Amino acid sequence: MKKLITISILIVPLFAMAQAPIIKEMFTADPAPLVVGDTLFLYTSHDEDNAPKDKYLMKDWLLFSTTDMVNWEFRGVPLKTTDFSWSAGDANAAQCIKRNGKYYFYVSVTSKNDPGVAIGVAVSDYPTGPFKDALGKPLIINSQTTYASHSWDDLDPTVFIDDDGQAYMYWGNNALYCVKLNEDMISYSGEIISFNIKDKSQFGADYEEGPWLYKYKKKYYMVYASGLPESIHYSMSDSPLGPWKYQGVIMETIGNTHTNHPGIAEYKRKTYFFFHDASLPNSNDKRRNVCVERLIYDSDETILQIIPKNGITKKVK
Ligand code: CA
Repeated sequence: MKKLITISILIVPLFAMAQAPIIKEMFTADPAPLVVGDTLFLYTSHDEDNAPKDKYLMKDWLLFSTTDMVNWEFRGVPLKTTDFSWSAGDANAAQCIKRNGKYYFYVSVTSKNDPGVAIGVAVSDYPTGPFKDALGKPLIINSQTTYASHSWDDLDPTVFIDDDGQAYMYWGNNALYCVKLNEDMISYSGEIISFNIKDKSQFGADYEEGPWLYKYKKKYYMVYASGLPESIHYSMSDSPLGPWKYQGVIMETIGNTHTNHPGIAEYKRKTYFFFHDASLPNSNDKRRNVCVERLIYDSDETILQIIPKNGITKKVK
């Protein structure tokens, strides 16, 4: 009896701490939310069921939607790497945003021509697609960016439109690049900027990848993965082009996956922080699960650290 009680005390807190992935039927990662009217759309990377334990197997992106943060509907496959004739595969992190009634889907995929990872953009009249390669070629190729010399530095695009209408794209693995997008959202002007990720006062000790840029109350927030295994940190600025001020950690390393990726959206008057872990049975580092928790600001607009719990269990109206 005594033994049983000891066991139950040990087990209950473990279950209470377990993650509650919002998608349980498929393996998903790199969440990118987009609010359109009453609906929150969630674009994700897709880890294939038969991914080997030591290698990512990612062929397409998935789309889910909700109107209450509790019930999620699968909306299909809006885009695949084979939709880009110049891609050799690897459907890495992506983000879709809306402008002038169209939806622009920025992806990082392996390129057939320029060795390494390139950024492409697809366009649709609907958030659900079908999306079509907008250019027939990459928007950015590996050889254009040289802050980092490895061939996969051009990963993880995040796109943001400021209140004055200027759009920016940020991206980078062990590099953080930025370029001003034109109003057509499929071309850019000016030089590609490389932020100094080695400057600890701007980006902490170990910027890795997966930037997510957004604005809240006139402040610009650069949220990103740091270190390996990754934790999520952030920096703030009064300008979309920096300089940035390092603020610290938002989410510590989860422990069951080497990677994490932030996606942030304000929806029905609350802010949500999407991320991924590998907490479902049969999950692993290459078969991940998208999760969500509330993001809460302190009185000075800094972000309170998020301890993953059970996700959102109460419907939002
Ligand atoms: Ca490059």
